[in-house]
Amino acid sequence: MTTEFHFPRAELPESIEKLRQEVRDFIAEERRNGSTPRPKNVGMFVSFDFTRKLAERGWIGMTWPKKYGGHERSTLERYAVTEELLSAGAPVRAHWIPDRQTGPLLLKFGTEAQKLKYLPGIAAGTCIFSIGLSEPNSGSDLASLRTRADKVEGGWKIHGTKLWNSNSHNAHFMITLCRTEPPGEDRHAGISQLIVDLSSPGVTVRPIINLAGEHDFNEVVLDGVFVADDQVLGKVGNGWNQVSAELAYERSGPERWLSAFRLLAELTESLGKKASASACRQLGQMFSHLLSLRQMSISIAVMLQSGSAPHLEAAIVKDLGTCFEQEMVRVARDLVHAEGVDIHGRHRLVGELLDHAQMWSVIYTVRGGAKEIMRGVIARGLGLR
Ligand SMILES: Cc1cc2nc3c(=O)[nH]c(=O)nc-3n(C[C@H](O)[C@H](O)[C@H](O)COP(=O)(O)OP(=O)(O)OC[C@H]3O[C@@H](n4cnc5c(N)ncnc54)[C@H](O)[C@@H]3O)c2cc1C
Repeated sequence: MTTEFHFPRAELPESIEKLRQEVRDFIAEERRNGSTPRPKNVGMFVSFDFTRKLAERGWIGMTWPKKYGGHERSTLERYAVTEELLSAGAPVRAHWIPDRQTGPLLLKFGTEAQKLKYLPGIAAGTCIFSIGLSEPNSGSDLASLRTRADKVEGGWKIHGTKLWNSNSHNAHFMITLCRTEPPGEDRHAGISQLIVDLSSPGVTVRPIINLAGEHDFNEVVLDGVFVADDQVLGKVGNGWNQVSAELAYERSGPERWLSAFRLLAELTESLGKKASASACRQLGQMFSHLLSLRQMSISIAVMLQSGSAPHLEAAIVKDLGTCFEQEMVRVARDLVHAEGVDIHGRHRLVGELLDHAQMWSVIYTVRGGAKEIMRGVIARGLGLR
């Protein structure tokens, strides 16, 4: 059986331009007054001050109901704000995961009490969540996870280790995927999502320093951590389906093709009118790929807004987008040398961005699901395997 994929034509409405300009003005003002300096790297960084300011402007939890601290704006408005923040290299790491992923997950599967407890804090930028999926030896093959939650009176006790948990060292809670039943014939059954308070006894968050020498992700050890029954997210045993629903949000957004955009923008500006014909051709190719990816990603945002879950299309954007990001860094490196960009003097910023992007770009095709796994998802979605 062959399945088709669809990227219906979609445009961001004109009315969004006003909002986009507001975000640009806000970032420009932050730069002018020195509170959010121009980034010298392409990573996503934590600034609680910046997160708080975004929250005050209503740019976190934008689409959520007002009764949960949200602002009832459209997915497309959120999309435009996201594009502006990422392309400017704004320090959005603190609230990124809870805004993008945890909020929608809680809205879809959470109890009323959980929504009231967590969503207003996320929208205010004061309640930070991390994602607890991967484990040592269970990354791509997530269903082989070994973290287990045993039923005890009034709740569950968790034993296990989670790995590569972005921002857990700054987070208050982690939505943790665990086995609540021993594995049976259906490997995807008997898995649940539990909301772990990271300040609970038995939780140890250990830093893992990445290639760029930064502390961005962690190992989280859970040694008999108690989670009350009312902190199970969704249905016990339904964790796999819930995680799959979550991934369409994670895989299709502008963060899958704008990670190193600052490098492309600064390099283009540094070359200016002196760019050779070859440089113009290569940069033109990069920008045209970027615009195609953007069109596909907007199309998914429109589908998500209308309530569908375009997993196949999201996997396509993730695969094409992250390969594009890596290619972009390679092209930038070649152009810096071929065009003789003065990266130790006048265009030092390009050099700094390039150095950092070379360290970071290796992870683009791994985080959020490795490239080979995306291709498996795509092949399955197309009925080819
Ligand atoms: C920057 C970063 C942030 C992350 N943040 C989080 C987070 O917040 N929370 C979280 O839970 N996880 C997080 N991860 C983990 C990420 O989801 C995993 O790294 C990813 O799913 C791959 O798993 P793995 O590292 O165990 O690699 P493996 O699964 O061991 O894969 C290693 C290689 O083998 C290939 N491979 C594996 N299986 C197959 C197969 N069946 N067919 C073909 N090739 C295969 C993979 O494609 C990959 O190239 C993060 C990772 C990174 C790099």
